[in-house]
Amino acid sequence: MIRSANIYKVSGTGLRALPFTLALFLIGCSGSVDPLFVKDQDAFKEAVKNARPGDVITLANGTWKDFEILFTGKGEDGKPIRLTAETKGQVILSGQSNLRLSGEYLEVSGLVFKDGYTPSKEVISFRQNKENLAYNSRVTETVIDNYNQPERYEVDFWVMMYGKNNRFDHNHLVGKRNKGVTMAVRMDTEKSRENNHRIDHNYFGPRPILGSNGGETLRIGTSHYSRSDSLTSVENNYFDRCDGELEIISSKSGKNKILNNTFFESRGTLTMRHGNNTLVEGNVFFGNDVDHTGGIRVINAGQTVRNNYMQGLKGTRFGGALVVMNGVPNGPINRYDPVVGAVIENNSLINSDNVQLGAGSDEERSAPPSESRFESNLIFNEDGRDVFTVYDDMSGIDFKNNVLGSMDVPDFTNGFSRQNLEMSLADNGLIYPKLDRQEGASRDLSVTTKDMVGVSWYPKAEPIVPFQSGKTITVDSDEGMLFSAVSRAKPGDIIQMRPGDYVVSKFLKLDKPLSFKAEGDVNISFERSTLFEIIDGGSLQLIGLNISGKDAPDYKGNSVIRTSPYAMLQNYRLEVVDSTFSDLDVNQSFNVISAAKGTFADNILIKNSSFATVSGAVLKLDSETDDYGIYNAEYLTIETSNFKNIEGALVDYYRGGRDESTFGPHFNMTGSSLENIGHGKRNQSAASIYLHGVQVTNISGNVFKESKPFQITHTVSEPKTKIFKNKFINTAAPRVVELNSGLPPTAMISDNEGLSR
Ligand code: CA
Repeated sequence: MIRSANIYKVSGTGLRALPFTLALFLIGCSGSVDPLFVKDQDAFKEAVKNARPGDVITLANGTWKDFEILFTGKGEDGKPIRLTAETKGQVILSGQSNLRLSGEYLEVSGLVFKDGYTPSKEVISFRQNKENLAYNSRVTETVIDNYNQPERYEVDFWVMMYGKNNRFDHNHLVGKRNKGVTMAVRMDTEKSRENNHRIDHNYFGPRPILGSNGGETLRIGTSHYSRSDSLTSVENNYFDRCDGELEIISSKSGKNKILNNTFFESRGTLTMRHGNNTLVEGNVFFGNDVDHTGGIRVINAGQTVRNNYMQGLKGTRFGGALVVMNGVPNGPINRYDPVVGAVIENNSLINSDNVQLGAGSDEERSAPPSESRFESNLIFNEDGRDVFTVYDDMSGIDFKNNVLGSMDVPDFTNGFSRQNLEMSLADNGLIYPKLDRQEGASRDLSVTTKDMVGVSWYPKAEPIVPFQSGKTITVDSDEGMLFSAVSRAKPGDIIQMRPGDYVVSKFLKLDKPLSFKAEGDVNISFERSTLFEIIDGGSLQLIGLNISGKDAPDYKGNSVIRTSPYAMLQNYRLEVVDSTFSDLDVNQSFNVISAAKGTFADNILIKNSSFATVSGAVLKLDSETDDYGIYNAEYLTIETSNFKNIEGALVDYYRGGRDESTFGPHFNMTGSSLENIGHGKRNQSAASIYLHGVQVTNISGNVFKESKPFQITHTVSEPKTKIFKNKFINTAAPRVVELNSGLPPTAMISDNEGLSR
């Protein structure tokens, strides 16, 4: 007998509510409870075993812990076997759970992965194992929320597509914080190539800066099989602050289509890294002037970039708004293939900083673009600044009918004309010339918005709780009051400290963002090896405090602020404003701020503060010593602060290795004064400021007195270092070393006073 497909939903609670005998009676009458409505893992296995085309297996609402779902079967076209939730969003897969699909015409929907991590390498995999893949199958309306390995640099992947003709749509992926691409299309066997996958209407929610390679959001293929076609289409997705590393989408295979996606304030670019004949059309990039927001990077043959819209993109170099690379002639498969036959037309670039042509040109990458066309594009910058950097001969690109608004035409081609463009905002949220023109993106470009993607039943929450966004808790110096305020405070709260002398006898561990604000003269000393410990989820803001190390234990290695000794998944923020630090010398190597391995700060800001008598370093950000291209903080900013008698360095900031996948670290110091810094015999670098592998450095308007010189080592990626308008008194000139390039130092050192060599 062929059982008819049915969706038999018994409300679990309803049945349980019945008297036992009555429930038995009901079960007796219907023969049995529907075997497709499952409440435990055994029932699920049984249901899968017996499922027929058109069946719907329903997981009962609730939290399913340690459930490794293996969903196999053969549905039919129009009659898939479905796996869904009793109520979408109310079936939670937690602990060590994951999902594998293998077979044909399978469909999964309504699940939420959170509060745990996959025990295998993947959370959702479109295969059971190397031999058994999924075809014509679909995962839709599923959520993966912060489902990360506890170790930041332990690699896993949230979604891996194998097989052919699969669809991943209307899903919500947010908070990938450990290493490993969020989602990838794999082509490692013949059965996964020319796959025709469709990835559409997904919400790729915020992915914070990883601080290492391996933070891509979507990768299609790998360099290994990049000369095969994938035929994957990526449409109408929303990439919301996908900041993991410098590639947001890395297309590494042929004939993909990347259409009508929106990139909102995402650092990085859509890169056609490998593979030919990909179409990139109708995408919208809103940078909103956020650092390192990029657009499209063109590499390889036969690429088409048409009708895209880029606005407010600040990215530079390979991360610019539009980048056309140079390639390696007849190079190996993992290098940059030359751009041949590219069509770049009808794109709009509005208030964006950089168009790079022939980027990467060097001895190896010696082939400029050829047989290519750059036509009917529109470039407008309100302030008239130039966007072009040309690194090589551009005669292989035919530039035609391009329009520039309020900027000078470039000198490498006559394919641009300058027009007086008056721009206005259209109903679709994009900016166009008031008078209709044929150049630039089309007026009927429809923009994928946040509400069009993902699921309706799961919030698209903000990733960060800002400082001082909560309530105020007032404390005084009575014993234990500060400690108890920290325990009961909520994220974003302000701990307002009344005047007094506070002696803190316990660690203040922060697992949420908190601000400590002095109301008058607040003096703090502490009796443990640290005052504040930032643990996972924590961030710290100090305003107006006077902190002394006089009561710290007489051992080496104290800190005022340190991060968790265990790896932290969540990036933290640290701000020190209007505060003073003194007497940090009870024993040796007393640091103000120490970052542990496996921890990462989005931002560290020191402002209007002073530091005196420190036996260690002020900022110890050099715990990542493996030279894997990993580091401790993205931005370190020091403004108008004073440092005096510091035995260690003001900062030890280290990013080793030769990887080029990150934008940071960044170091910015202005308007500060340093006196007698770095002379301690334990200061290994023998420098006042030690920067190794920092990508962007700006040191200006400071006074350096009686201090050790800076030691700046450039490692990879053409770092930008500017040292200007500083005053040096009895302080030797900065030492800048190019570690790998073999080229003369590239640091810009100018307009400084008192520099002698
Ligand atoms: Ca990468």
